[in-house]
Amino acid sequence: MNKKTLIFLIILSLFEFSHPALSFKAATVHPLPGVVDLRILETTDLHASLVNYDYYQTRVDNRIGLVKTATLIKKARKEVQNSLLFDDGDHLKGNPLGEYLARIRGIRKGKLHPVYRAFNYLHYDAVAIGNHEFNYGLEFLNAAVKGAKMPVLNANVFSVKKKKPYFTPYVILKRKVVDQNGRKHHLKIGVIAFMPTQIMKWDKANLEGKVMAKPMVDTAKEFIPIMKSKGADIIVALAHTGISYGTYSAESENAVYYLSKIPGIDVILAGHSHNVFPSSVYKNSPDTNIETGQINGKPVVMAGAFGNHLGIIDLRLKKTNGQWGILKGTSFTRPIVNDAGTSLVKRDKRLYQLVNPEHQETVDFINKLGL
Ligand code: MN
Ligand code: MG
Repeated sequence: MNKKTLIFLIILSLFEFSHPALSFKAATVHPLPGVVDLRILETTDLHASLVNYDYYQTRVDNRIGLVKTATLIKKARKEVQNSLLFDDGDHLKGNPLGEYLARIRGIRKGKLHPVYRAFNYLHYDAVAIGNHEFNYGLEFLNAAVKGAKMPVLNANVFSVKKKKPYFTPYVILKRKVVDQNGRKHHLKIGVIAFMPTQIMKWDKANLEGKVMAKPMVDTAKEFIPIMKSKGADIIVALAHTGISYGTYSAESENAVYYLSKIPGIDVILAGHSHNVFPSSVYKNSPDTNIETGQINGKPVVMAGAFGNHLGIIDLRLKKTNGQWGILKGTSFTRPIVNDAGTSLVKRDKRLYQLVNPEHQETVDFINKLGL
């Protein structure tokens, strides 16, 4: 043995001794073959709450704001190998910043709406259109979504003239995921979005003669087989609708329970009613497990509103005979403040800088009005 080899062996042995935990772990943990853990993150009903700020009281409000949720998003991503991020709609309207941009200043040519600037920065994988997105008219909406780098989805609002979906109804995202053994796999994630048909009443002046809304459940039943035939391994529904357990009707505003019964829909991101799911609110509800966050055995999450919670669904997938199946799916939420109202996270500095120009303009506008 020459000197070089000896030194090499000594170094190797030192490495072994100095990492007893590593070698122990490798010897005792047997990850399942082809098992992929996939985390799905949700924001919903942001209502233009980008900054942790109350424009009515003109002061900081740490109970709201995507600048806070963003910190939870980054943390939740870091904890896992594979994740996706979606917004469930109602993101453009609902506070003075949204009003100021839509009714006073408008979207400057070539400039992004700050909500979509935020979505781009946080690398959302897709977003849903919510009913409130129609409040400023179709022209404003079309201008606002123009700079979005992710698919902007809805499947049940149809163009009257063209007789086809007004938005992109669904996408099949192709993502590389890493299994528990570190092996790469290709996964096709189908994503489809819905909203209540009540928009035709709520936004009659903006929508009549231009678009029409079809029932969410009927639309799902129409598109899910198409998405499956196009190779979707799993299907995520961005359902801008709440959870109610009454008798189903085509006009049910809160359709999550009925959507969860449709074969092929694997995961439901809920919204619209500004509730938190899972939570004790739903503890005595039929076919609902608030421990696992499942309705009819499907993982469902609803992340409150205004960025006050991040919704998280952890899926465990396994490929058998070339087909991906879901071994496990659990959901939970993380809040930005505790019950006493104390902040649990700092704001994301970079995001705050990115949306601060419009935030400051809105504050200045309010101050000028002397409100
Ligand atoms: Mn809403
Ligand atoms: Mg809504």
